Amino acid sequence: MRLIGSVALCLGLALQLPVPVASETSGPTVLALTGAHLIDGTGAAAVEDGVVVIRGDRILYAGPAQSSDIPANAFVIHLDGRTVLPGFINSHVHLGANIWYLQEWARGGVTTVRDLGYATDRLARFRENYRPSPYRARLVAAGPLITVPGGYPIVPFGGAWALAVHSIADARQQAEALLDGPADILKITFEEAGGQLPTLSNAEAQAIVQVAHDRGTVVSAHVAAPSDVTLALNAGVDDLAHMAWREILPSTVAQRVVRNGVYWVPTLELWACVDSPWIAINNLRRFVNAGGFVALGTDFAGYTCDWELGMPMTEIRYMRQAGMMPMQIIVSATRNGAKVCNLEHEIGTLEAGKMADLIVVDGDPIADLEALSSVVMVIHGGHVIRNDMIATDPQPFEPRHLGHVSEPLPR
Ligand SMILES: [Zn+2]
Repeated sequence: MRLIGSVALCLGLALQLPVPVASETSGPTVLALTGAHLIDGTGAAAVEDGVVVIRGDRILYAGPAQSSDIPANAFVIHLDGRTVLPGFINSHVHLGANIWYLQEWARGGVTTVRDLGYATDRLARFRENYRPSPYRARLVAAGPLITVPGGYPIVPFGGAWALAVHSIADARQQAEALLDGPADILKITFEEAGGQLPTLSNAEAQAIVQVAHDRGTVVSAHVAAPSDVTLALNAGVDDLAHMAWREILPSTVAQRVVRNGVYWVPTLELWACVDSPWIAINNLRRFVNAGGFVALGTDFAGYTCDWELGMPMTEIRYMRQAGMMPMQIIVSATRNGAKVCNLEHEIGTLEAGKMADLIVVDGDPIADLEALSSVVMVIHGGHVIRNDMIATDPQPFEPRHLGHVSEPLPR
C-alpha cells in the first residue's frame, strides 16, 4: 500500500504539469541540475561542482559548472552537493515483463533491466500489449534460454523458459526467429554439471552467436563452472551470466575471458541464496584483479529466494566484499550494464547526446556505497518520475516546470 500511495503522490504532482510538447516558440523543456557531485559512469573521477543539462529526453551537457552553458529558459534544480549518477542497470533479472516490477525498479533508481530468461510466447504477448513508460524500467529481454534436449535448464528446472535446438540449421533458424520476434538479445546455456548434461555443440553455439552478431546484437551465456566458461568462450559469446561458484576460477580461464573482452555478470545475490557466495566472491576478486570487465546483475526471480527489488544493494555489498572499489561497482551498474544490454550508445553514462536516465542520491557513494540506498530523485528518458527533495528544497517549488508525464498511472 505504501508503494501505491507514493506512486499516486508522484503522479498527482505530475498531473498538474502541462505536457511539454515541442512547439515553434518554446521547444522541449530544458532542465538543469546544478551544484552536483557528478559521477558520469565512464569511470572518470567525480566532478565536485557538476552540472547536467537535459533537453527533452536527451542530455545536452554533463560536466564541470565552469564549462557549462545553461540556457536562459532552463528550469534549475540545485542539488546542494548531492550526487548525480546515470540510471542504474540490473543486467540479470527474470520476470521483467511485469509492469509492477518495472515500476518498482524505476522508482528505486534502476532505469533499465535485462531479462535473461522468459517464455517466448509470454514475452511476445507482453511486447505486443505494452507501451513503454518512463515510470517503468526499460526492458531489454533475451526470451528463452537456448539449449539442447535434456540440457540445462530443462534438467533440472523444466522447459518453461527454455528452447531446445536440434541441429546447426535449427539453431540458426530459432535464433533468427527470436530476434524477428520479441528478443533484443540472445541467451545460450552451458552447464555440463560435471559431464552429466548435454550442451550445445560448438558449431550450434557459434551459429547462434553469428546470427546475433550479424544482426548487431549480443549473446549472453549461462555458465556455472570454469569448464562451462571455456565452452562459452569457444562459441564467441559477449558476456557470462553467473560467476563460477563451486570451484576456484583458474587464472588461465580468467585471463582468457579478459583477453577476449568478455564481460562477466556475477549474480552473487543468487549464490548467497542457493548456497554460499564466498567462492564466487573470491572468483570475482580474481577476475577483477586480472583486469576483467564486470556488469552488475542479480538474477532477480531466477530461483526461490527473497529477492531485492529496486536498487540492488545486496549485490553491491557483495561486490565490495570481492574487493571492487566503489567507482568500479558504479561503472559495472552503468556503462558496463549498457554494454551487455547492447545499448552503450544510448544509456549508461552521463554524456551529451545520451538518453537522460539519471538518479540523484544523498551523500557520496565513492566515500560510502550505502549512499546508493538514498535515492532522492529519478529522471528516466528526461521525465522526472521521482523527486523526494521537494519538501526540503529552499527554492520556491514551481511544479509546472518540473518534469512531465505522458500517460496515466501504470496498471
Ligand atoms: Zn537467471
